[in-house]
Amino acid sequence: MTDLFVNDKTYIANTYSRFDIAISSGKGSVAEDYDGKEYIDMGSGIGVTSFGYCDEEWAEAVTKQINTLQHTSNLYYTSPCVNLAKLLCEKTGMDKVFFGNSGAEANECAIKVARKYACENKGEDYYTIVTLDNSFHGRTLTTLAATGQDKYHENFQPLTAGFVHTPANDIEALKEVVRNNKVAGIMIECVQGEGGVNALDGDFIRGVDDICKENDIVFIVDEVQTGNGRTGKMYSYMHFGVSPDVVTTAKGLGGGLPIGACIMASKVSHVLGYGDHGSTYGGNPVASAGAVSIISRLDDELFGEVTAKSKYVFDELTGAKGISSVSGLGLMIGILPEGKTASQVVSECMKKGVLCLTAKDKVRLLPALNIPWECLKKAVAVIKEVCGE
Ligand SMILES: *Cc1c(COP(=O)(O)O)cnc(C)c1O
Repeated sequence: MTDLFVNDKTYIANTYSRFDIAISSGKGSVAEDYDGKEYIDMGSGIGVTSFGYCDEEWAEAVTKQINTLQHTSNLYYTSPCVNLAKLLCEKTGMDKVFFGNSGAEANECAIKVARKYACENKGEDYYTIVTLDNSFHGRTLTTLAATGQDKYHENFQPLTAGFVHTPANDIEALKEVVRNNKVAGIMIECVQGEGGVNALDGDFIRGVDDICKENDIVFIVDEVQTGNGRTGKMYSYMHFGVSPDVVTTAKGLGGGLPIGACIMASKVSHVLGYGDHGSTYGGNPVASAGAVSIISRLDDELFGEVTAKSKYVFDELTGAKGISSVSGLGLMIGILPEGKTASQVVSECMKKGVLCLTAKDKVRLLPALNIPWECLKKAVAVIKEVCGE
């Protein structure tokens, strides 16, 4: 074990401050370390392993595809990515999909789509992309520019130009920004994940939709973390009765393999033409076959389970000793502890066999969508105990 820790610190770039455990394997919602100690996993690889570790149906779809065709170039037709794109369009009522390999790439594509749409329809000076304070949209230089948190911007200037940030839930401030800039697109997360699991007001989200429609602005919803059943609907915007022009997603889409999607509605689905964008791995058959296995199982029955489990967590933890608030939507939950920091809570939970995440000053929970009730109840009891001590 010490070898692994030492070699990691020696050979891996120092970008991650890791917890003191090494995960060796997992099954469902239980992760195991190299000493054989088991943990209930309330983070699912940051909302990635939608049906838990090594879910059998997903693993079978992936291994079958790996033994059939692991990759070819986007110069040829292949069926897994087409099946996935068709499913995504059917489930959203949208038109076309571009596949990349991550959330940041999905957002890069969305930004290119908004800029090209505005360039062709409103003029080339309409390039501004508006995002919200405290948002998170990725780590590339352009998606960092979109991210409304200064701490990520330090030391990497200059970032891509043409991004303006405005406070969440302040529709008048957004109107002002739209009046004062030549805006191509507005991009929001309906629940800010990295920003602290803050669900935006429904009225604000509907207001953004209205402003976009009134001003022919491309409305982009970043569903990288909130998407694919996480909030108890296929995509979180579906809670609010809005119709985005572009939906980006990644994380839980692939169930554990890298994939990102930029889903486009009719207004913008023909904006990208030959040569406008591309990705060598984009729509990789193995990642796509895994994603088809995930997406085809996201139905009302599962969403009902997600909602019931969410309610259980909210009911148990809201007002509990040592917890000042619980926020979020579905199985994307933030807990603000009182008297302990979020990272203290996370490390104490870890010692007691429960893995949680943090987001700013919150303890963040993103369990597998199908986490067994028994695991969920045990984990919530541990979190409650740790916060209440
Ligand atoms: C994680 C995340 C991203 C970035 O995704 P990567 O796959 O890490 O590039 C973008 N937007 C949101 C909302 C995210 O949570």
